[in-house]
Amino acid sequence: MEDIRYLENKAREIRRTIVEMIYKARSGHIGGSLSSVDILVALYYKVLKINPKNPNWPDRDRFILSKGHSVEGYYAILADLGFIEKKELETYCKFNSRLTGHPTVKLPGVEANTGSLGHGLSIGVGMALAGKMDAKEYKVYVLMGDGEQAEGSIWEAGMSASHYRLDNLVGIIDRNRLQIGGSTESVMSLEDLSDKWKAFGWSVVETDGHNIKELLDVLENIPITPGKPTLIIAHTVKGKGVSFIENKAEWHHRIPTDEEFAKMMEELS
Ligand SMILES: [Mg+2]
Repeated sequence: MEDIRYLENKAREIRRTIVEMIYKARSGHIGGSLSSVDILVALYYKVLKINPKNPNWPDRDRFILSKGHSVEGYYAILADLGFIEKKELETYCKFNSRLTGHPTVKLPGVEANTGSLGHGLSIGVGMALAGKMDAKEYKVYVLMGDGEQAEGSIWEAGMSASHYRLDNLVGIIDRNRLQIGGSTESVMSLEDLSDKWKAFGWSVVETDGHNIKELLDVLENIPITPGKPTLIIAHTVKGKGVSFIENKAEWHHRIPTDEEFAKMMEELS
């Protein structure tokens, strides 16, 4: 329980950093970054076997942020864990910075260039397959957006992952029900999302994506079904943590005004 409280506080701290980075840079994707924070915190502070001092350790677990636009929380965590120095966060989105608006492998800890949606899971399939061929124990985790599920390449990856019985692969969907153009169900309806993934041969679990304990109950018990890849539908709220931006598609990449910024920081204190 103490552990969980520590992680919840960490998530609040990361949310503050996200808001600050976006406000200062006048750039970023605030809604989807805030919705995915608790998932990232559960993974990075409890689940992933990684070593910030040796980012390319061959036996490390792999994480791919397929929804590459939600990058601020990712950078904040990599800095907090020591993959990069915290002061580098101040360069976010500045000319010549390694902290670009979508992540690249130039940054220690980043496993794949992402941002062009729909590619992360295919890259993850390759890594998971390599792990099986090399008889490695590592696991591969891929965080996708729900709007991203409209990309056909995701379903090709889904098919091949079950074909190759990649039970070392975990796909996580940040199911906040919104994307840049509005609700996912109005842009490209996804439901029944769970049945779709089951039909593609995956073991599917649904969780509250803001409940760290619930997330850990799943993430610490992979594979859910031996021989099958795992798909976690994490139900989240876009903009989670700041009441006046929650569940609003316009906050996909809006930048807070001075007044809004002050209110956000107050809510996250
Ligand atoms: Mg979404």
